[in-house]
Amino acid sequence: MSTPSSARLLALAAALSAVALPALAHPGHLDTAGFLDGVGHPLGGLDHLVAMVTVGVYGATIGRRALLAVPGAFVGMMLLGGALALAGIGLPLVEPMIYASTVVLVLLCLMPMSRTAWIGVVFAGWFGLFHGFAHGAEMPADAAALGYAAGFLLSTIGLHAVGLGLGLAIHRLLGRGAVEA
Ligand SMILES: [Zn+2]
Repeated sequence: MSTPSSARLLALAAALSAVALPALAHPGHLDTAGFLDGVGHPLGGLDHLVAMVTVGVYGATIGRRALLAVPGAFVGMMLLGGALALAGIGLPLVEPMIYASTVVLVLLCLMPMSRTAWIGVVFAGWFGLFHGFAHGAEMPADAAALGYAAGFLLSTIGLHAVGLGLGLAIHRLLGRGAVEA
């Protein structure tokens, strides 16, 4: 499929690889084991896995600008959350918010009234903040942590992409055409 949105997704993936690959090419600056741990973490726990795939499905459900804006809000706020935690700034209710994110995001996908770009951006960003914070809080600021963060980020984007693909496929099957909606 070569719609403008999938072309933009490819461009996004290429841009992110361009950021991540030079880091990989300098083993002194990036710990490979940390990177692999970071990639594996969102895939190994149902909380992150469900939330991140659902963010993609939700973006696809809303369609148009939300295809990139909803996952983008999650990723952007996740980075901010990680940075806040590294800076030693406290955030309450991190674990409950992560658990809530899985349920709330699924509900948002199912409720027609929540299929609006700005609602998607607000909720995805809000929950992304907590997913990022939970991990920044545990990270020492060293090379392994940097690798971990890069791996975690790539994995998150991959899960969003899977969710977007899944969401678009579901809408195609249902004949609703999210992108033109
Ligand atoms: Zn985690």
